[in-house]
Amino acid sequence: MVERAPYLTTRLQGFGATIFAEMSALAVRTGAINLGQGFPDTDGPPEVLQAAVDAIGGGRNQYPPGIGIPELRHAVSAHQERFYDLSYDPDSEVLITAGATEAIASALLSLCEVGDEVVCFEPYYDSYAAGIAMAGAVRRPVLLRGPDSSYVPEELEAAIGPRTRLILLNSPHNPTGKVYSRTELEHVAELAIRHDLLVVTDEVYEHIVYEGEHVPLATLPGMRDRTVTISSGGKTFSTTGWKIGWVCATPELVTAVRTSKQFLTYVSGGPFQYAIAEGLNLGDDYFRSLADGLRERRDRLSAGLADAGFDVWNSAGTYFVTTHLAPMGELDGVAFCWSLPERCGVVAVPSVVFYDSKDVGRPLVRFACCKRPEVIAEAAERLATLRSNG
Ligand code: PMP
Ligand code: GLN
Repeated sequence: MVERAPYLTTRLQGFGATIFAEMSALAVRTGAINLGQGFPDTDGPPEVLQAAVDAIGGGRNQYPPGIGIPELRHAVSAHQERFYDLSYDPDSEVLITAGATEAIASALLSLCEVGDEVVCFEPYYDSYAAGIAMAGAVRRPVLLRGPDSSYVPEELEAAIGPRTRLILLNSPHNPTGKVYSRTELEHVAELAIRHDLLVVTDEVYEHIVYEGEHVPLATLPGMRDRTVTISSGGKTFSTTGWKIGWVCATPELVTAVRTSKQFLTYVSGGPFQYAIAEGLNLGDDYFRSLADGLRERRDRLSAGLADAGFDVWNSAGTYFVTTHLAPMGELDGVAFCWSLPERCGVVAVPSVVFYDSKDVGRPLVRFACCKRPEVIAEAAERLATLRSNG
């Protein structure tokens, strides 16, 4: 029987410490290469870093406006226009948040009644389950299956019922690296319209696409006004510690999301908001080179993992590559990940933590490719020793 955590409310039982914190602590403790938590080991563009320094030196150190500084709201709006032809009024349709994490939590807290159902695809990013639980809502996961992470359309249709309030969709997708196709998104859109549902989209990896194209759901016909689009600067500018995120949606939806957001943090990261505005205004080249640089690393890591004997799933985007342990003669990703630092000096994340269907997730392990090429090469060499050392 699972032990009850003392003091903790019933709805948060079972959430414990995040797997990312646990695995990063394991990496520090053992000195292993950390391919667990998804953060880059190099800094973002120098002009973006300098803009943060300048903002601090220039006295931008008090509360920014509750909805975010105008420079950043305008930059978010211009970014949506430049890349996706989506038009959002920077004063009423953009909200700056403490990372995508707060945007997702605020959206769930503001939009769901207790007992409402949230349809999401599993595996799902860990904060979704916690955010849904905090809102007193119920998650209805739809399984992404196998190496291509496709879902069965009828299963999505069956997951939608009278209590469904919204669909929560993440593309490019952590942990699988799936980039939803236009056809899949059209299906999601058709269902949202037919059942009059909202959709919350998590697009934090929007600029990390290796194959295919990132299609924001809000660009599909009929979807702009029922979609809460969420993204953040952490991945796009290699500044995951800054936690500057944003929401784009109709004024009514933004106002709703802001209502809970303002009582979670009110505001955050004043000087970093100036810096992310600078980043969003960088030329197209920057955004292209980000994906190009990471594609090479994905390739090196995927090849290294295949050489080491893993069954490697193709990753079309994000920081991550998923592997199946079966060819290694192992079936338990949790035991594997806890023993990996000792066996070969590498840390990875057991994907089972992202699943409700534990049997499906158990043999899967996620590796992060957002590290310097020499670090990935060293990790690959270490992983290759698994074959000889057993
Ligand atoms: N969504 C996904 C899919 C993620 O991988 C992450 C991790 N960065 C987040 C949301 C959280 O983003 P942020 O750091 O901006 O809160
Ligand atoms: N998004 C990062 C990952 O998936 C982790 C962020 C966090 O630690 N909360 O690895």
